[in-house]
Amino acid sequence: MEKDVIKYERQREEMVRSQIEARGIKDPDVLSAFRRVPRHLFVSEALRDQAYGDYPLPIGEQQTISQPYIVAEMTQALELDKDDRVLEIGTGSGYQAAILAQIVYRVYTIERIRSLHIQARSLFDKLQYHNIVTRYGDGTKGWQQESPFNAIIVTAGAPEVPEILINQLVVGGRLVVPVGNQHTQELIKIDRRGNSIQQSNLGGCRFVKLVGEYGWRDG
Ligand code: SAH
Repeated sequence: MEKDVIKYERQREEMVRSQIEARGIKDPDVLSAFRRVPRHLFVSEALRDQAYGDYPLPIGEQQTISQPYIVAEMTQALELDKDDRVLEIGTGSGYQAAILAQIVYRVYTIERIRSLHIQARSLFDKLQYHNIVTRYGDGTKGWQQESPFNAIIVTAGAPEVPEILINQLVVGGRLVVPVGNQHTQELIKIDRRGNSIQQSNLGGCRFVKLVGEYGWRDG
C-alpha cells in the first residue's frame, strides 16, 4: 500500500540518521544503499513494523537478520569499489547481499538452508536485483570457480579465520569475518597483501553459527 511505502520510507530515514550516521558510518555509498533497500521486505509480515528497529530479528530456521548498524559497519569495512565482485557467506534474509548489490558490480551469496536460499532468491527477483548470484550449499569452502573476489564477507560466526577464503581474495582484497565461540565473537578484518596478510580487530559482535566443513561441525 502507498501509505505503508511512505511510512517505511520515514522509518528507514530515521534508522539511517539515528543508528548509522550517528554512530560514525560515513561512506556515502553505504549510506545511500541503506536509504534505498526496503528492509521491511526482508522480514516476515508480522515483523514489518519492527524492521527498522535497532536490533536483529528472527527470520525462521533459528536464524536472524543482523542489526542494521552491524550490516553498515561490516559493509564499510569492506572498502568497496563499484567494479568489485563480492562473496557473501550466509545469505539469510538476503538483506546484506541487497545492500552490497547497491554498491558493487556483482554479489555472489551462499546459503546452507534451502528454504532461506529460495526465499531470498525470489525476493531478489521481485526487487529486480539482477546483480546478485545465489547458491545453495556450504559456503565455508568459498566459491572456487568464481574466485578471486575483491572482498568476502562472512555473516555467521566462525571458530577461526577460514584460510581457504583468504586464498580466494585478489591481492589487495578484504575479508571480514566474525571469529570466536558460539556465544560471542570479534569482528576480524583481513587485508591480503601479496604474500602477507594484515589482520585487525573491529570489536565484539554476536552472530549465529557458521556451520560447515571449515566452520562448526554440527547443526
Ligand atoms: N546476511 C544475513 C544474515 C543471516 S544469519 C542477512 O542479511 O540476513 C547467517 C546465515 O548464515 C544463516 O542463514 C545461516 O543458515 C547461514 N550459514 C551458516 N553456515 C553457513 C555455511 N556454511 N554456508 C552458507 N550459509 C551458512
